[in-house]
Amino acid sequence: MANYKYIDSALIHGGISTDEFTGAVNVPIYQTSTYRQTGLGEEFKWEYSRTGNPTRTALEALIAELEGGTAGFAFGSGMAAITAVLSLFGSGDKILISSNVYGGTFRVLDKVFSHFNIGYSIEDTTDLAALESKITPEVKAILVESPANPLLTVTDLAAVAALAKKHGILSIVDNTFMTPYLQRPIGLGVDIVVHSATKYLGGHSDVVAGLVVVNDDALTQRLAFIQNSTGGVPGPFDSFLLIRGIKTLGVRLDRHVENAEKAARYLQNHKAVKKVYYPGLPGAQGYEINKRQAKNGGAMISFELYENYDIKKFFKSLRLVALAESLGGVESLVCHPASMTHAAIPYEVRQRIGITDGLIRLSVGIESIDDILADLDRAIAESEE
Ligand SMILES: *Cc1c(COP(=O)(O)O)cnc(C)c1O
Repeated sequence: MANYKYIDSALIHGGISTDEFTGAVNVPIYQTSTYRQTGLGEEFKWEYSRTGNPTRTALEALIAELEGGTAGFAFGSGMAAITAVLSLFGSGDKILISSNVYGGTFRVLDKVFSHFNIGYSIEDTTDLAALESKITPEVKAILVESPANPLLTVTDLAAVAALAKKHGILSIVDNTFMTPYLQRPIGLGVDIVVHSATKYLGGHSDVVAGLVVVNDDALTQRLAFIQNSTGGVPGPFDSFLLIRGIKTLGVRLDRHVENAEKAARYLQNHKAVKKVYYPGLPGAQGYEINKRQAKNGGAMISFELYENYDIKKFFKSLRLVALAESLGGVESLVCHPASMTHAAIPYEVRQRIGITDGLIRLSVGIESIDDILADLDRAIAESEE
């Protein structure tokens, strides 16, 4: 149907890419909460902007096409998207989550959904036999990230999807770190894809939003109902920013990944660095699986400095690379998972799953790689004790 074959074109022309009312090449920001109806009982397409808004609908059609699903849903944040998906479950249900899952996903299950008697357990989703042994009758879904935050742990998505199908439960993948440009879980058999669109999809660190994609009519009906009932939708302007961001996703990611590959090799050979976590490095955990299911290793790297480097001094010494939460923007960002993104996970659990106090997570931006590496190198030198 479309007059293009490749995702690079779909990023620009996918979904509803021109305005149906004016032909404008960009879908306008329909900044309205409601719509004038033609008469009582007459048919109308637009009703109220929690239920539907043309700018948001264009974004939803775009992400559905990019992920290869049948329907997309937009939310005011990644956590609102994840909350909507978790609202599919009820009292007595249990969800298996991967051990390096996003801290906020753990927190919402641990502190919010627990009030509704929806349980969870943290599993090593790289060990499929162990994972299968945890599928008891109350388990209704497996939620994974690959690569998972922040150790970039790779899980075999096709295998998890097959396992879920075999047991009649749902597979859910948080595809934030890869985006559909690098990895498309629905094509691997996964039921539900969620995104923090705040990251690479938006790409400019100027919008907080979330997305969900499904590939099944019953799930589409249920999620549309949850989205409209719970109401965590993004406004038209944020929807516009995401459509705009997604147009350059391909060129941005090509550069992000090129820089990340160089940074990973550089850090791997640095005398101050104990370990580099990057699924694009031969020999990394899950390297072969990642190669099979994704275009490349993405642009997120974690690394651990030796104990004789002062981590606080390292962060203080950076001048170009910013210490900040979040990732996936054009600018390079670093964070300290143990005290920032994963602070919600108890200390003992963090130690057990490898999120040590010396771990640094780097979201490699699209600046000159030479400037990025010079900044890291200087900060490392200044932090040596
Ligand atoms: C940031 C993030 C989220 C949460 O998204 P928000 O937009 O911050 O609500 C969920 N999953 C992953 C992997 C993330 O990086």
